Amino acid sequence: MTASHRRPLIAGNWKMNGSLKDAAELVQALAKDLGSVGHEVIVAPPFTALTVVGELLKKSPIKLAAQDMHWENAGAYTGEVSGAMLKDAGCHAVILGHSERRRLFGDTDATVQRKLKAALAHKLLPIVCIGETLEERESQRTFKVLETQVKGALTGFAPSDLSSAVIAYEPVWAIGTGKTATPEQAQEAHVFARRQVAALYGDGLAQGMRILYGGSVTPENVDSLMAQPDVDGALVGGASLKPIGFLRIIHYQAAVRS
Ligand code: PEP
Repeated sequence: MTASHRRPLIAGNWKMNGSLKDAAELVQALAKDLGSVGHEVIVAPPFTALTVVGELLKKSPIKLAAQDMHWENAGAYTGEVSGAMLKDAGCHAVILGHSERRRLFGDTDATVQRKLKAALAHKLLPIVCIGETLEERESQRTFKVLETQVKGALTGFAPSDLSSAVIAYEPVWAIGTGKTATPEQAQEAHVFARRQVAALYGDGLAQGMRILYGGSVTPENVDSLMAQPDVDGALVGGASLKPIGFLRIIHYQAAVRS
């Protein structure tokens, strides 16, 4: 299977930014000027803006995602939001194991796996984030880290459960730093991550799984990243908050994908 069989996905992670008014303005600007787009486009606003943004997207092909979820359905989990609640709020997808969740809020491969199980049970499209720190890269541990993260989160499923799952390779040193992985570094990491999926579930599933790149994606660098055969999309943070720039990212030009 070649890259052309994997439908590209561009996702915007708004993180903890903006008022309801900002969220509404941003998504209205995106929806208004989206134009024709063959691939999948997702926005992940903060929890408080999900329903407002979801309402505004009702007639748009842009889909709604949450930035995290809890693995239980309901109960005494103060501050948490369940997959059932995300579905109820109109979510199509959920980001899991973002490095900020791992670094600042204690997410581990084991909790990401539990969240993944719950996301799949609620028919949410999971975007599972993996990626090495600068120190890990500089000490030649990138591949070991990626192997541990892929296996830690994705082990223990029936292959058919994972047919919708998406991985986002987001080197921690590239997130919000303005330092992007080179297209070659991204391609190398994606091929490696795909190989880990193949080792768990076979080549068929691995070749069909979309792997996004995230980390300082901009209108200027998206084309060369998306030209890589194993880069199936982008998870975009800061640059997804500006409609003109994000629309340019959505409409990347990468004719050489094969
Ligand atoms: C992210 O938050 O997933 C991300 C990649 O952020 P940025 O694009 O700002 O580096």
